[in-house]
Amino acid sequence: MTHTLPLQAPLLGTLPPVFYEAVRPTALQQPVAMAFNTSLAKVLGVAVDALDCPPNLLALSGSLKQYPQAPLATVYSGHQFGVYVPQLGDGRAILLGDSIDAVGRRWEWQLKGAGKTPYSRFADGRAVLRSSIREYLCSEAMHGLGIATTRALALTGSNDAVYRETAETAAVVTRIAPSFLRFGHFEYFYHRSRHEYIQPLADFLLRHHYPECATAEAPYLALFNAIVSRSAELVAGWQSVGFTHGVLNTDNMSLLGLSIDYGPFGFMDGFSQHYVPNHSDDGGRYAYKEQPYIFQWNLSCLASAFLPLVAEADLVRALDDFVPLYWHSYWRRMRAKLGLNTEVRDDEMLISGLLAAMHADRVDFTLMFRYLSEIDADDTAALPEKLIALWENRHALASWVARYRQRLRTENRDAVERKAAMDAVNPLYVLRNYLLEQAIVQARDLADYREIDRLQRCMADPFTERAEFADFAVLPPAWASEICLSCSS
Ligand code: AMP
Ligand code: MG
Ligand code: MG
Repeated sequence: MTHTLPLQAPLLGTLPPVFYEAVRPTALQQPVAMAFNTSLAKVLGVAVDALDCPPNLLALSGSLKQYPQAPLATVYSGHQFGVYVPQLGDGRAILLGDSIDAVGRRWEWQLKGAGKTPYSRFADGRAVLRSSIREYLCSEAMHGLGIATTRALALTGSNDAVYRETAETAAVVTRIAPSFLRFGHFEYFYHRSRHEYIQPLADFLLRHHYPECATAEAPYLALFNAIVSRSAELVAGWQSVGFTHGVLNTDNMSLLGLSIDYGPFGFMDGFSQHYVPNHSDDGGRYAYKEQPYIFQWNLSCLASAFLPLVAEADLVRALDDFVPLYWHSYWRRMRAKLGLNTEVRDDEMLISGLLAAMHADRVDFTLMFRYLSEIDADDTAALPEKLIALWENRHALASWVARYRQRLRTENRDAVERKAAMDAVNPLYVLRNYLLEQAIVQARDLADYREIDRLQRCMADPFTERAEFADFAVLPPAWASEICLSCSS
């Protein structure tokens, strides 16, 4: 374990210079350490108290006078709410460099909110404290759920003013991922008719992130197929935990199939297929139930940018494959949530029936699935009180439970084993927006960061019940439904 940050020159710098610009982070005045992810630090080979060293606090808040490796910001574009925007880029993200961990994996270190870059357009390059806390915690909550995501190592902040609807303060998240490359990186060069840069980008991905595709007969098609398949897996994971990203523009789609760019996201409380966490999304384009369709639409944008490399008919076939890949992963996850070991045709009806009843009643998504494991297969057994309490329409619950029990009895699965398997896939804790709100208020108004730490420790293992987190495993308070999230961050 080292106190010196183990950064080396970014591999991304081996791409042609049109992909990025060298940038300098803008210092915060008197940065403070707010959170440090010790378990990720261990993975990276960094000392768990590394942020206590003043030079590291300066480095990870963007405040060093001189960085040893020239930091970079990359250029990309993207389809935002369906409309092509020709010029975006790392407007407030700065790549500091890479590190290599003990088992040889390479990680990129990015500062989010460390000041303007050539791609900041009209904005300030900053991120406010509330959105930085949200990104820091949600990256780790997603990881705890076993869903592919960028990670977060550190959160630093200051009293420097940032203006959104009102004056707020600036914070910086240190994000970690094997790569932050997005669909928009391809789209930028495709739509500018700079097709000569599509292949170097694809080659970079093949070489460093998809070596298994590099040796395929048709490597670029294999690469596209792999991105389709990882994307299907990712969105199926989100659907299965009631997560809605909020801003599924193509510039927020990772080429590695990672959850990326946490903004106005939400883990649902009461279940609604139409859940839209982002209050700026009037039309509900990025509603919960739309996410799989949006993924396929976004993949079709990426497919266009692959036209210089892959025959159109092959790309169309690959896009078609998204549908079965998605549904296969989705039903597999949902069957596991119900504790079903075998696969029966009617399972899809059983699962849809539960979701329809939950939707009609706005039943708490997380607690309902968690409590399913306490349903005895025997028709004469009483239902747990806490499960019944989640429902208004007890009749709908009872008639669904009767079908469910019948199905359980066809499996004859050992009850103890089934409960353990279900509790390992149905989280008891999720990062509900109201929990984030409580941590944000404490940090902002009292400079008290303990709730951030507590949420992080809880969400790192959302499947194991622990008494110290009992207050995170309850129905949300009434004010939770009034939380308003916008793109402003
Ligand atoms: P987002 O929807 O937050 O992923 O951002 C879309 C684009 O706007 C990206 O290119 C961001 O880098 C850029 N952006 C968002 N907020 C800022 C900001 N405060 N300063 C500079 N660029 C920003
Ligand atoms: Mg350049
Ligand atoms: Mg973004």
